[in-house]
Amino acid sequence: MKALVLEESRALRLREIEAPEARPGEALVRVEVAGIGGSEYLGFANPGIRPLPNVMGHSIAGIAADGRRVAVNPLRGCGVCAACLADLVQLCDSWSLIGVQSDGGFAQVVSVPLESLVELPNDLSWEQAAFVEPFANSVNAWEISGAGSSDRIAVIGAGGLGLGLTACAAEAGCETLAVCDLSPTRLQAARDLGASYVGEALDGRYDVVFDTVGSADTRQMALEATHSGGHCVFLGFASALTEIDISAVIRQQKRLSGAFVYSARQFSKALDLARLCHRDWVRNLSFDAVAPLLEGYLAGDFSVVRAALRPNA
Ligand SMILES: [Zn+2]
Repeated sequence: MKALVLEESRALRLREIEAPEARPGEALVRVEVAGIGGSEYLGFANPGIRPLPNVMGHSIAGIAADGRRVAVNPLRGCGVCAACLADLVQLCDSWSLIGVQSDGGFAQVVSVPLESLVELPNDLSWEQAAFVEPFANSVNAWEISGAGSSDRIAVIGAGGLGLGLTACAAEAGCETLAVCDLSPTRLQAARDLGASYVGEALDGRYDVVFDTVGSADTRQMALEATHSGGHCVFLGFASALTEIDISAVIRQQKRLSGAFVYSARQFSKALDLARLCHRDWVRNLSFDAVAPLLEGYLAGDFSVVRAALRPNA
């Protein structure tokens, strides 16, 4: 089968590799759509925790061997620790993601644990399915924030995570919902999901601010835009280290939280939110178009709302 293999930093090569066989407890999935977002372009440039060679792609939907249309929840844990039993697998000491620590969806077929399969509603398009995994992260961050309908909300970044948070806030009935991004196409998508203000930067102060980018600049913007006593939630990974003024955090009694991945319940909830996405927000890509797209992201071109590899198209 064909697969895109990350062999070294910025070397993503189309290879003919042996198709996986389903081991006991696993299912083969014919990949229809593999979403491409922040994890992919950051991992492409800096493989980090990925063992190379790595078939990337952790946002996967396709057709299982029994014919069901499914999304794949790529998060795996040991299954027996207290965190796993509480559906908080990200707190398991041995969590891993299909498509990061093991081979994923940048291939025609992927083998995944049976319990990773989440059946898709019949009316959810493959393009909408490309939003399920990032939106599951958004559901988790939204719940961690504790935000309610009366809170003023700001979201930095309008890619998959930011649009998912926009959808969560709109669904909760938040009237003040500001979204910033440098891409006009992404901002239009945020408008369509219910943002009350969109722009290149945040203006004003908010009760809850989400940073889905994670650069030094956006983290600083998030902290400054958080009202005294407010809550700042970080999801973005663009930079590891950021210098921040903790004295200001103390004096203004701001809360800072991290939010990472999702529970099985939150992953299922993301199916409903993905229904709000427009099919034309997704750019469908063939194998040879993926590396140029990732290079474009690294050069700062985020004009695509969401991109997805279609390995069997
Ligand atoms: Zn565990």
